[in-house]
Amino acid sequence: MSLFAAVEMAPRDPILGLNEQFAADPNPHKVNLGVGVYYDDNGKLPLLQCVQQAERAMLEHPAARGYLPIDGIAAYDNAVKALVFGADSEPVRSGRIATVQAIGGTGGLKIGADFLRKLKPGAQVLISDPSWENHRALFTSAGFDVGSYAYYDAKRLGIDFEGMLASLQAASPGSIVLLHACCHNPTGYDLSPEQWDRVVAVLQARGHTPFLDMAYQGFGHGIAEDGAVIQKFIQSGLDCFVATSFSKSFSLYGERVGALSVLCQSKDEAARVLSQLKLVIRTNYSNPPTHGGAIVAVVLNDPTLRALWERELAEMRLRIQSMRARLVAGLKAAGVQRDMGFITQQIGMFSYSGLSKEQMVRLRSEFGVYGTDTGRMCVAALNSKNIDYVCRSIAAVL
Ligand code: PMP
Repeated sequence: MSLFAAVEMAPRDPILGLNEQFAADPNPHKVNLGVGVYYDDNGKLPLLQCVQQAERAMLEHPAARGYLPIDGIAAYDNAVKALVFGADSEPVRSGRIATVQAIGGTGGLKIGADFLRKLKPGAQVLISDPSWENHRALFTSAGFDVGSYAYYDAKRLGIDFEGMLASLQAASPGSIVLLHACCHNPTGYDLSPEQWDRVVAVLQARGHTPFLDMAYQGFGHGIAEDGAVIQKFIQSGLDCFVATSFSKSFSLYGERVGALSVLCQSKDEAARVLSQLKLVIRTNYSNPPTHGGAIVAVVLNDPTLRALWERELAEMRLRIQSMRARLVAGLKAAGVQRDMGFITQQIGMFSYSGLSKEQMVRLRSEFGVYGTDTGRMCVAALNSKNIDYVCRSIAAVL
């Protein structure tokens, strides 16, 4: 009998299934809002100018492809630290952050999860309800029991903040709390600065460990604005994990560029933590790939390319915001009675539209407009050509 005879088919990734259904749909007006990708106004995946210029510069001085250090390119790790924590921040100056290059934001999360599993084997991990699908699977596969804290309030179309605080208060002391630093995926609702303060206070009181997933720095209100939440964690004195992704902010999805940073209490602690993160990496994939990390290091460390990146990032951010505003206005013009203004209060790539599963299914089958059954739509896939059609389609099912 084959070793694999009893192997079960694993469940399909729901988003992948949606993409396949979209590809097979003959509707000429079809629009895919199920993706987690930013497209430009022509519906194309952008290749940023700053990336092209960095690659040209790299081609002029081609580098041999030796192994990178286990923790990646030093200039990359230092640039990540400065971006996430602030170049002149006390933890950066005192050297108490351990940062490693990772294979995307996902890789950063997994390195952190594997390290935490050794540190706190019995701890519960709490993710928001709802959260990015992979959070639960990733921490479960690292060996944790994964629960959730209240987050989205479907009735009020916003955050169930009191529920969130209550869940964090009720969790066993010393739990690991996964938080979306900005641009919450999937709901699009972020905490206000005052709400962050209250969350930090509960984490302190209960001895929880915060793990911030920062997959969209710069996609919300700006690089520094989105990073402001990190300052609160620095001030709190809590030990803290931050996973970074450049997939969206550099439009470098396939290069798999991310990082994990661990904020420690001292330089000595950070050195020991770094050695443990390297052990996790070494036993998984040895060391990270060269190309994507090199591009980001070049751009972040060159003042001209850095300024260009910031302009291109702002362009993506502002285009998303303008699509949100046009969606609200377009839905009203298409005859939608209910107030859809909440869409402009949301931030980042996604909108929880408040549509039911039945309405989402009708949107797909009758209009070829694809979002997830939970009502999540990617506003970063809307553009000046498809927005009116999308508005009319949503109006028809509401
Ligand atoms: N966290 C969140 C909240 C995300 O939305 C994503 C990407 N969709 C990731 C992590 C993973 O990022 P990456 O593609 O860089 O692994």
